[in-house]
Amino acid sequence: MTFHTRCTIFSLPLVVMLSMILHTLPAAAQAVTQPKLSVHWEELTAADFREGIRRSQGTCLLPFGILEKHGPHLPLGTDLLDVRYAALHAAEQEYAVVFPEYYFGQIAEARHEPGTVAYSRDLQLALLQETTDEMARNGCKKVLIVNGHGGNDSLLPYFCQSQLDKLHDYVVYVFDQRTPHSGGPAKKTTIDMHAGESETSKMMISRPDLVHQDRAASESGADQKRQKLPEDVYTGIWWYTRFPNHYSGDGSAATHELGEFQMKWWIDSVVKAIQAVKADDVSLKLQNEFYEKSRHPLDTQP
Ligand SMILES: [Zn+2]
Repeated sequence: MTFHTRCTIFSLPLVVMLSMILHTLPAAAQAVTQPKLSVHWEELTAADFREGIRRSQGTCLLPFGILEKHGPHLPLGTDLLDVRYAALHAAEQEYAVVFPEYYFGQIAEARHEPGTVAYSRDLQLALLQETTDEMARNGCKKVLIVNGHGGNDSLLPYFCQSQLDKLHDYVVYVFDQRTPHSGGPAKKTTIDMHAGESETSKMMISRPDLVHQDRAASESGADQKRQKLPEDVYTGIWWYTRFPNHYSGDGSAATHELGEFQMKWWIDSVVKAIQAVKADDVSLKLQNEFYEKSRHPLDTQP
């Protein structure tokens, strides 16, 4: 019997046994057989980045934070720290490559407070465009912006809409929810928009060492209601008229339990968003069809 034959004889049952074992293992245990890859863009080697893009099916996250005052008791980077905590934990569950710290958003309304970094309108749009362009050039054909900052609520839909003005070989998606509307431990406060009960509770999960809850009652987060306009008339100064101290709510009402519930909801919601984006095979196709038709609109038929 030659060595080769002997090997063949012994390896056959081994292969069968191995495949039987693999089939009885739960999916999570099987995933262990793939080498672990960091979800942090900046932690990957060039070769591992290539593997990360393959494993994520070209789906990359851009968690979007800001630097602004958060009441008297939370750090300036609250939105950045919280959104990265949620996005990174979500990507660990549903693999996606996560872009490094990004905080170049809309926050003109906080320029009177210490520590605010407010880039100009043109730079916000230009930097975001070049960032998503560069992500796509590196294989991120599905860019999911996970927004952690309320002041970006107008910027991001506009940015997405403006992607239609010229051809892009990638799709920008935005996930813009941070707090569940119901469920979990009962809330004690009704006004809870900024550095209040919910946001303080979430920081107790992401960076408890940076929460100074003993200072939370040292300023008022009440609605000052200084503007007398109907709800459907908008002005840029609206936030300042209501909450000039960049505090809306009462952080002293925050609890670890509420933070745990809300952060888990946020992470679960981002996981679902990543899965939906990965499964989406319509947007890019129709975007391309749209770009092509928009080159010769007179030919477009109903
Ligand atoms: Zn915030």
